[in-house]
Amino acid sequence: MSDLVLRAAELDAADELGKLRAQFVLDAASDDAADTAGVYLDGNSLGALPAAVPAHVADVIAREWGQLRIRSWTESGWWEAPERIGDLIAPLVGAAAGQIVVGDSTSVNVFKAVVGAVRLAGAGRDEILVDEATFPTDGYIAESAARMTGCTVRPVPVASMAAEAGPRTAAVLINHVDYRSGRLHDLPSLTAAVQAAGALVVWDLCHSAGALPVGLDAHGVDLAVGCTYKFLNGGPGSPAYLYVAARHQSAFDSPLPGWNSHVEPFGMRPEFVPVDGARRGRVGTPDILSMAALEAALSVWDGVGVDAVRAKSLALTDFFLECVAAYVPEGRVSVLTPLEHDSRGSQVALRCADASSVMAELIERGVVGDFRAPDVLRFGFTPLYLGFADVERAARVLSEVL
Ligand SMILES: *Cc1c(COP(=O)(O)O)cnc(C)c1O
Repeated sequence: MSDLVLRAAELDAADELGKLRAQFVLDAASDDAADTAGVYLDGNSLGALPAAVPAHVADVIAREWGQLRIRSWTESGWWEAPERIGDLIAPLVGAAAGQIVVGDSTSVNVFKAVVGAVRLAGAGRDEILVDEATFPTDGYIAESAARMTGCTVRPVPVASMAAEAGPRTAAVLINHVDYRSGRLHDLPSLTAAVQAAGALVVWDLCHSAGALPVGLDAHGVDLAVGCTYKFLNGGPGSPAYLYVAARHQSAFDSPLPGWNSHVEPFGMRPEFVPVDGARRGRVGTPDILSMAALEAALSVWDGVGVDAVRAKSLALTDFFLECVAAYVPEGRVSVLTPLEHDSRGSQVALRCADASSVMAELIERGVVGDFRAPDVLRFGFTPLYLGFADVERAARVLSEVL
């Protein structure tokens, strides 16, 4: 056995989070099958299924919907689900209760947050800065939000965002972790710099929440959004979330006021009067079945500290890079992900010439990552259900394919 196989076994034996793997539905990997079992490195696109989800969703369907029907809006806690589940996400992103509401997609929440931020910034500021390498949907929505609010959008590299934010800047939208390269941006210093320029910052946490500490409250973030189907394992299309810092809530003016954010939703009044608190970020009727899956999925986090998850995430990506360096012929791939821990999310992106066909072959052989045009192999590392032996095997299969 190679050194790296032995090292993987030692690292797995010492891994406190390794026991959480049993809480997920993964490929059957008995000891003798371990060398041929699949390795799922796409949990940053769609998290694996937590074992608690199917029974809970079945109960919500059969009993809460099937038997209690309309009574479940009160008796089964359906009405408060967006705030209740928001409070389950809060500790994972360093937020006190009452500031996060779950619902709608990330795209829709980007719209609420960016328009809300421009309105909070007040008159005299007419520009929105957007992370130049942003996930496209954020950019499209910022562009439309700008047109609606009389602003212009200026795409800026995150590295120069602090210098570019100025007296005209109303809002700045940044992806915490770059979805393509896996680069982690410095949330504390960027937040402080944007605010020093008098603007508000909106962080998109899609690729960081559930993988590393975010510290929304500690760093005084204004607004944030994120999805729940990546590192939070909420299931395909599970609802996203919106964070509005408590100090902004009473002035937060949502561009999508709906009856769910009305102070008296069942008053059915013609004039809109917004409710206080996180519920102000809601729009219409919550998608209860998706919320049910997400709520059960979040139970995996009971007693799990984000710092431990971060430590394991870095150990996994370090080990993967080490295995790739040892196994893959020199020059065949180049590492796009920053090597410094401070700048690394929970993924490794490798650039290689025929990336699309390489990834197709990897998936064929059970190592599931994804391909991002034009030439990037992307591997996501999910500390709750991935072990070091998986990482070693993935690098070994990659070297065989290459
Ligand atoms: C995954 C992701 C999204 C997805 O938005 P949806 O509305 O859920 O499709 C948005 N922004 C970033 C940065 C992402 O990584």
